[in-house]
Amino acid sequence: MSFQNPVFIPGPTNMPEAIRQACYMPTIDHRSPLFGDILHPCLEGVRRVLKSDTARVFIFPSTGTGGWETALSNCLCAGDKVLAARNGMFSHRWIDMCQRHGLDVQVVETPWGEGLPADRYEEILRADTSHSIKVVLATHNETATGVKSDIAAVRRALDAAGHPAMLFVDGVSAIGSMDFRMDDWGVDVAVTGSQKGFMLPAGLAIVGVSEKAFAATKTATLPRTFFDLGDMQKGYDNYAFPYTPPVGLMNGLKLSLEMLESEGLDKVFARHTRIATGVRKAVAAWGLDLCAASPEVYSDSVSAIRTPEGFNATEIVNLAAQDYGMAFGVGLGEVAGKVFRIGHLGMLTDAMMLSGLGVAEMVMVDLGLDIKLGSGVAAAQEYYRHGGQATRQAAA
Ligand SMILES: *Cc1c(COP(=O)(O)O)cnc(C)c1O
Repeated sequence: MSFQNPVFIPGPTNMPEAIRQACYMPTIDHRSPLFGDILHPCLEGVRRVLKSDTARVFIFPSTGTGGWETALSNCLCAGDKVLAARNGMFSHRWIDMCQRHGLDVQVVETPWGEGLPADRYEEILRADTSHSIKVVLATHNETATGVKSDIAAVRRALDAAGHPAMLFVDGVSAIGSMDFRMDDWGVDVAVTGSQKGFMLPAGLAIVGVSEKAFAATKTATLPRTFFDLGDMQKGYDNYAFPYTPPVGLMNGLKLSLEMLESEGLDKVFARHTRIATGVRKAVAAWGLDLCAASPEVYSDSVSAIRTPEGFNATEIVNLAAQDYGMAFGVGLGEVAGKVFRIGHLGMLTDAMMLSGLGVAEMVMVDLGLDIKLGSGVAAAQEYYRHGGQATRQAAA
């Protein structure tokens, strides 16, 4: 393995050299003010990325999955009712975690490839006149299918129904790559991790908590120790963690936030949209379809690409790794073998993306698919030259 090629898996994402260096730091005393110089910029920077003025930000040594567990175990009691839609592997896993915690999940089965059904949520919430539903779960970006959902529409559904349930959002593959508005959307818990939009190694769960959700921790009785928000808040009040913090990763996060903010969040999002649009042009030129059902739900951080009936899409991923040293994502769950995924989030440029499209094309031709070498690359090149020019100049 040469490690010269970028990866095109939808997380962990490519790491800028400066971030790697920032993670690789000498030991400091994590109970000294030196740690506060790392902790506080992280908490404040994450709050700005979440577009919240008031959220409490918590960082745990964990991953996005630990962020889910933080949200559930701190805010709910066994038997509490939760409303969730299953439209891919990540929403499925969050539902599974709820069930393992003894929560009563009302699942809205949604075709994989479609976004969250806000109108169904509204009907169900309206019918719940006793307000027994405590939380609505929403996966902002289904990484398994490359589907982005409209979180503002979920908020409108709650408001239209006059329902007081909290809104928990999995933003793991969206936050830092796509616009996220915790306050505008009335999100009570926003969950992410370090290894996607923040361009870090895996190892941090990053969670934004509204005052309403924090208040719910006082009466929530699900067991938690490691992920206890009250303990973590007490630690923060003393510039520390209740246990040993992952200082190097947090130093990397501090730099990642500086990098995102110096590029400008809007420009970061525009870059993701531009690179993603080039990928979609390539997919169309190959004559293939996205798993995502319609343009409103196309994700700017990952594309899941359907391969022809009878063809095993996983072979693309295997051959790309074996013959070209390049990583793409396999299909998961219901779409295993039916799609392969191109991750296009984090530290990427148009030029890096063209290399990924070029390799994907070679592999598909090697495997006998009816695709012309250069067709997808040319379509993306055309877009990056012309269609993408305005955003590139804005970013310069
Ligand atoms: C990656 C991902 C997760 C899981 O995060 P881990 O850091 O692997 O625990 C959860 N949800 C979504 C949408 C993701 O993309």
